[in-house]
Amino acid sequence: MASSSIPSGYDVVILGGGVAGCVLAARLSEDPGRSVCLVEAGPDYGPRQRDWPEKVRNARALPRDDVWERHTAFYRIRARVLGGSSCINGCWNTWGSPADHSEWVRAGGERWSAPAMEPYRRRAAERMGLRTAPGYELSAWSAGALAAARELGYPEVDMGSPDGGPGRGEPLLNAVDGLRRNAAFAYLDPATRDRPNLTVLSGALVDRLTVRGGRVHGVEVRAGGVDARGGGGLTALTLTAGTYVLAAGTFGSPGVLLRSGVGPAAHLAENGIRCEVDLPGVGANLSDQPGVFLPLSPTAALNAALADKEAAGELYVSRMLVRAASERCPAGSWDLHLLPTAGPPLFGKLPPGQYEAGVSAFLMKPLSRGRVRLRSADPCEPPEIDPAFLTDPDGHDVAVLRSGLAKAAELAAALGPLAGPPADGGVPVRELSDAALRDRVGTYWHPVGTCAMGPQDDPLAVVDGAGRVHGVADLRIADASVLPTVPAANTQLPVLAAAEMLADTLRA
Ligand SMILES: Cc1cc2nc3c(=O)[nH]c(=O)nc-3n(C[C@H](O)[C@H](O)[C@H](O)COP(=O)(O)OP(=O)(O)OC[C@H]3O[C@@H](n4cnc5c(N)ncnc54)[C@H](O)[C@@H]3O)c2cc1C
Repeated sequence: MASSSIPSGYDVVILGGGVAGCVLAARLSEDPGRSVCLVEAGPDYGPRQRDWPEKVRNARALPRDDVWERHTAFYRIRARVLGGSSCINGCWNTWGSPADHSEWVRAGGERWSAPAMEPYRRRAAERMGLRTAPGYELSAWSAGALAAARELGYPEVDMGSPDGGPGRGEPLLNAVDGLRRNAAFAYLDPATRDRPNLTVLSGALVDRLTVRGGRVHGVEVRAGGVDARGGGGLTALTLTAGTYVLAAGTFGSPGVLLRSGVGPAAHLAENGIRCEVDLPGVGANLSDQPGVFLPLSPTAALNAALADKEAAGELYVSRMLVRAASERCPAGSWDLHLLPTAGPPLFGKLPPGQYEAGVSAFLMKPLSRGRVRLRSADPCEPPEIDPAFLTDPDGHDVAVLRSGLAKAAELAAALGPLAGPPADGGVPVRELSDAALRDRVGTYWHPVGTCAMGPQDDPLAVVDGAGRVHGVADLRIADASVLPTVPAANTQLPVLAAAEMLADTLRA
């Protein structure tokens, strides 16, 4: 591998060009006196939507081309492209409950309270162009589900705001007419990219930070001609900066820290990495939202209605959801999402004119905690990821998920005119064993928490409320990994808002 360095360095280097990284690059480069470099392992398809691959622009599907691992377990899927997981996700945006903010305030202080974050939520929603879907995007299934939820007594709520409790509604979308507006389009538009103080370095894999004496002295990057595994024909760069901001996501940020010698000492030793700062929380506390899909059998009339929508180019798998509360949920809050879907199957194929329909129940506030670990010090080797779904010792998560499935079955029954029980009869939800439930568990793809914020005396805390890494000066983290608990929401909007807020702490 060739080697070079950029001696002049930058004021700020942002490591990871995903949802949070795009926000940080745009906001921090607003000051023309601050030089900013954004480093992203994946490709940059440019500032104009029309130049991006059709598959990535299409908001009707979850594209799988620009990812870290092509054939892998569903819960490991994550994007490797400028714009990050906003380029491969469902374009749904919701906000959590006041209880989420109470958890975050305990960990990171008042700047994480609902009122303090409100301007950042609004700023992010505006920049991403969030809106509810026009009526014609609602399929017979989504419209039927809204009516069924109303009949069951779920009040109408605004899914994108902090107000209200359990209820039914439509999420906000970062898509218009089937075109995905990802974070790279929204934040790194042509005008932003024209700033002379902003450098976007794509195809550049961050290996490790050089940490000595509690400070960062540079970041080692493999840049240029990145192949599928990040190897081959690469140039080694050392970037230097006044401030380094990690934004490589819940799976990427702990990996960079661990390779840099910042993490649990014993795990670093196992991988032959010298320990610079013994920080046991790095890679721990992985929290993701598991869910189970209840399949149904669409009636001929529903199949025909969905086929008409597909022919018109207006078929969206879902446009509504229900926030529900299990018996264990504090009053006024919610700990479940019920998600009715109907359309082409997420995995696999059906004959033309036939569709998959059903209702999923997602556990929004899991207590189970998994972890991210290195397999080796090689940055091209995928990390070991254990989501540890439904493993909390007291069985809270299984109990709440069962409650969600009972509510999903109730909603499915109210959708009876459109779909009935699966052709094979299926196993009634209440008769599923815990083991069968674990076999059927999927994810909502909202992992957080592997570099969790918390006070310095919390042995598992990695950053403080401003994203400053405990024990390492000049180093911050500002992505989904810092959230100590997952909000009762889809995570894109909360991560956008958190990055907006953390960018302000860096500008101060
Ligand atoms: C399949 C899927 C569907 C989802 N659906 C939704 C949805 O509908 N609504 C919603 O709200 N949320 C959804 N999410 C979650 C949402 O996309 C994430 O919460 C959000 O993207 C997190 O932002 P982030 O900046 O922390 O990480 P990311 O957006 O994942 O960005 C991390 C970036 O860092 C880069 N990176 C990582 N390691 C390195 C390295 N070593 N060197 C250089 N670059 C690196 C990556 O390539 C990536 O671009 C979904 C996620 C997935 C995967």
